[in-house]
Amino acid sequence: MVNLVSDIGSTAAESPDAPALSYDGQTQTYEEFWSRTGRFAAALDDRGVGAGDRVGIYLPNLPQYVTAFTGTLRAGGIVVPMNPQYKEREISHLLSDSGARVVVTLADLVPVVRAVQAETGVEHVVSVGGEAEGATSFEAFLADEERPVVEREGDDVAVQPYTSGTTGQPKGVLLTHENLGSNARATGDLMPGGFQDGDRMLGVLPLFHIYGMTVTMLGTLFEGGAYYPLPSWDAQGAAALIAEEDITIMHGVPVMYNDLINQPNAEAFDLSSLRFANSGGSSLPVEVMRRFEDLYDVDLYEGYGLTETSPVTHANSPEARRPGSIGKPIDGVRARIVDGAFEDVPPVERGPVDEEGADLNDVTGELVVAGPNVMKGYYGLPEANEEAFTDEDGTRWFHTGDIGYHDEDGFFYVVDRAKHMINTAGYNVYPREVEELLFEHPAVADAAVVGVPDERRGETVKAFVVPAPDAEVTEDDLREYCLERLAEYKHPREVEFVEELPRTTTGKVQKFELRGDE
Ligand code: AMP
Repeated sequence: MVNLVSDIGSTAAESPDAPALSYDGQTQTYEEFWSRTGRFAAALDDRGVGAGDRVGIYLPNLPQYVTAFTGTLRAGGIVVPMNPQYKEREISHLLSDSGARVVVTLADLVPVVRAVQAETGVEHVVSVGGEAEGATSFEAFLADEERPVVEREGDDVAVQPYTSGTTGQPKGVLLTHENLGSNARATGDLMPGGFQDGDRMLGVLPLFHIYGMTVTMLGTLFEGGAYYPLPSWDAQGAAALIAEEDITIMHGVPVMYNDLINQPNAEAFDLSSLRFANSGGSSLPVEVMRRFEDLYDVDLYEGYGLTETSPVTHANSPEARRPGSIGKPIDGVRARIVDGAFEDVPPVERGPVDEEGADLNDVTGELVVAGPNVMKGYYGLPEANEEAFTDEDGTRWFHTGDIGYHDEDGFFYVVDRAKHMINTAGYNVYPREVEELLFEHPAVADAAVVGVPDERRGETVKAFVVPAPDAEVTEDDLREYCLERLAEYKHPREVEFVEELPRTTTGKVQKFELRGDE
């Protein structure tokens, strides 16, 4: 019997005065935090919500998010995290599909939940940050007394986040106590010297997304560190918090690091308290990594994962690091690159493959993984599960949908998502290759490459570029620059300057929007 959150209770018993959560100048110790999670669990229990019941958390990163998350698990329930930017239509699907009985949300968002309540199974709405009609305020919801932790089996579901995957409606991903526990612990071990007493974690990655949830929140609380939630990203605010609070660990998506180095006062930021910085969620352009390291003298590592793998499968670490690579599989995870017939694609000698003229198609395949962090399955979607896994000799291999290759030293490289590949006049172009090159141009602050319809070639390569402030560069200059350095079919025939790129809150460029798809 295990429960993911039991370790937090052990810290509360051993180091009751250690800081657990710090927000807006207010700190909760482990004892205080643990007690509040017990009162949240008791409030659920009082309403008959317990083992196996779903609780939706529809909040930005706030201390109450962490309390509701831990409290729900403590009661044996299952958390359904929801992006606070979602509108009625989106949350209606998540709430109906999951069957959530309780929703915890901002007072301002209560009307959105109330509008869909009749068509979903939601019985109780809890509001944070004020009173709202039809909701119980968070503090009033908490019971007076704690309840003990409800024990669960390792393969009982703990969290059900939603992911869009490649097509269709978002799918519920069933992640168990074992999935999340193993991954949160493994990621702590990737830092120099592991997680250490007194480590302070910047909590800016959204908690509704798996990277923020497992690596920053759970990873910190399991190890007795202090977690600093930040409700939204703002480069100036994050840099100030790091300096003021002596934050020691930062996890972010590449766009956050790019944002920091492109601030007009980037050189003045003092990030010297950071002993570890890591990027994940999408590919980190090597140029962004180098500039960040030069400016702040902090090593920036890259890792890789997906919602379905809790998330981390690969990471660079102090012992094994190669820029441009997603690193090696973490302890307990196995990874392969396979072709369409599920045969292994052999490794290259030593990556990364030199881009100029290289034919990536000869060395790439789909990345598949297996390990204790791989989801139980998609919720109620037997066909999606059928497609997502291949069983071979007793191992259940999960198809990531990412195209990559590996080298003889055991490093893996992700070239792009399979669905982002551009086919132009029969040639395959991986946008990432062109994006990496654009990032090396001093006049480029941000860039994304997509395929757009072309009568003659089927698709043609188009780059959207955010120029650096005060840069004097034309669209033609950038076309020429790429043409000189890439095989002709890979260079962007079209370049368009834009003020910013459309991104999800987790930093992924919304390529369908750039392509003009519905
Ligand atoms: P999500 O389920 O939202 O975490 O998205 C998972 C996807 O993010 C993966 O399938 C990859 O396409 C992408 N991704 C995550 N980390 C990296 C990385 N380091 N390099 C390239 N792509 C990444």
